[in-house]
Amino acid sequence: MSLSQLVLCPLRILVAAAGLTASLAAQTTSPNSTPNSQQAPAPQPPQAPSAPTRANILRGAYGPYRANNDLLFYHLDVRVDPEKKFISGKNTIRFKMLKNDTRIQLDLHPALRVDKILFDTTELKYEREFGAVFVDFPKTLRAGRVYTIDFYYSGNPLETGRFGGIAFRKDPSGHPWINTACEGIGASIWWPNKDQWRDEVESMQISVSIPNDLVDVSNGKFMGKTDLGDGYTRWDWLVHYPINNYDVSLNIGNYRHFSDHLGGLPLDFYALPEDLDKAKKQFVQAKGMLEAYQHYFGEYPFKKDGYKLIEAPYSGMEHQSAVTYGNHFANGYLERDWTGVGVSLKFDFIIIHESGHEWFGNAVTAADPSDMWIHEGWTTYLECLYVEYMFGHDDAIKYVNGYKAKVKNAVPIIAERGVNAEPPQDMYFKGALFLNTLRSVVNDDARWWKLIHDLYQRFKYKNIMTEDIVQFFNQKTGKDMTPIFNQYLRRTAIPTLELKFNGAEDTVSYRWKADEPGFAMAVRVGKRDNWQLIQATTDWQTMKSPLTKDEFGVATDLYYVGVEKQ
Ligand SMILES: [Zn+2]
Repeated sequence: MSLSQLVLCPLRILVAAAGLTASLAAQTTSPNSTPNSQQAPAPQPPQAPSAPTRANILRGAYGPYRANNDLLFYHLDVRVDPEKKFISGKNTIRFKMLKNDTRIQLDLHPALRVDKILFDTTELKYEREFGAVFVDFPKTLRAGRVYTIDFYYSGNPLETGRFGGIAFRKDPSGHPWINTACEGIGASIWWPNKDQWRDEVESMQISVSIPNDLVDVSNGKFMGKTDLGDGYTRWDWLVHYPINNYDVSLNIGNYRHFSDHLGGLPLDFYALPEDLDKAKKQFVQAKGMLEAYQHYFGEYPFKKDGYKLIEAPYSGMEHQSAVTYGNHFANGYLERDWTGVGVSLKFDFIIIHESGHEWFGNAVTAADPSDMWIHEGWTTYLECLYVEYMFGHDDAIKYVNGYKAKVKNAVPIIAERGVNAEPPQDMYFKGALFLNTLRSVVNDDARWWKLIHDLYQRFKYKNIMTEDIVQFFNQKTGKDMTPIFNQYLRRTAIPTLELKFNGAEDTVSYRWKADEPGFAMAVRVGKRDNWQLIQATTDWQTMKSPLTKDEFGVATDLYYVGVEKQ
């Protein structure tokens, strides 16, 4: 099983839980090399990192033939034959050149054939290396000009892993059921595109031709269907916003549709006929979810496309405006109390988590998989916000702390940049615990709500790196929070508060044990209900306290920190 198979959200968690974590060792954690990064080098990982493969460099690097152009628009127009498990068609790719050049890099999995690549009527030459397709133009493309090519392809896509990238299945009543879920393995497993995270098209058209008796649900607004007269019908969808490649999806099946709305936002739901009644009950939770996230961050990001929830044969995925769902129409996560503290069974984990990605992952997007905590850490934190909105602060604190048991602290959350590296599972749980800590560091809820609202508004529809988030917080708070971000995201261990008690003098000495130079973080200590805020640094300081070693507490539910008492 390849490394990239683990990235499916949130399925990677299950895969890892099944013990298939060996490929995580393939991650490397060497220092990032972004020019604007002010951070100190990341620490050495516990195990020697293996060198990235040529295939992962081709996939992961934003090389010269990617950086020389800016994507504007895709029209993916495909025909899907369920019986032959065959896909064919073309992607019309419109892009603006940023530099004069004669070559661009696109991507298509080697299992699929390049039929031809047309530039107007000229057939272009190309070279393939692993998943990369280097396309050569007969004359120089000029910086600032817009060009369009038609990339024709066909073949039987490779079905790998549990969800297959694109999986040709049957539903329980024997109808074809074909779904895509290709985060990690990459969208080029089933269609040709510029398969990376930094650059997104501004909008996209998706046309899917399928046998007449089936339904296709893809991303965006449904524009209509056309009977092609040969037993196939074409379903047309229009995405009005930037979209990640891996979010582009097909859901082909014997679907039944029902709809609702939230204010002016259309809500469309798709389920198999035998699950329709269950879906009508369970999918009601979409409204509360949307209200909660709109409360904290602002309007649903893809209003023109609407919000869709679609039954799928796997647990779920955040496909933009077309979230897939396979959580058994039951609360919790696959019918379990996911965080084990009695809160998870109050709501449907997949509806709440996958839809949270509409704000973080789909609207605000990481520019490299190395910084995927921007998707998963934030969205796991959004679950906590949903709990706070629906069930109150006490449940939210219980819920986020329930995630501690899942944190490994074995490697840093941020992986190596530019090599298609997969961050560890800690990006989910430790990511959320870190953001809960940051709220306590800000120590003013009204300010915290404004900060996270404004952060989302500042970066929606953009592809960003962790540095952008750090810079935002530093600027808005007027404090250098870089060492705090670095300790939690670029270092392995969490900070530990060391405490030394002097009973004779009623004093306590304290300092942070942390890897990050200059680490300093205020923390609440003393007695619960009457916490005292101390400005702890990595240097020893002493405070008066009548509390004994046993009585003296640290607010470890508000800050994800270790405590060592001497
Ligand atoms: Zn996720």
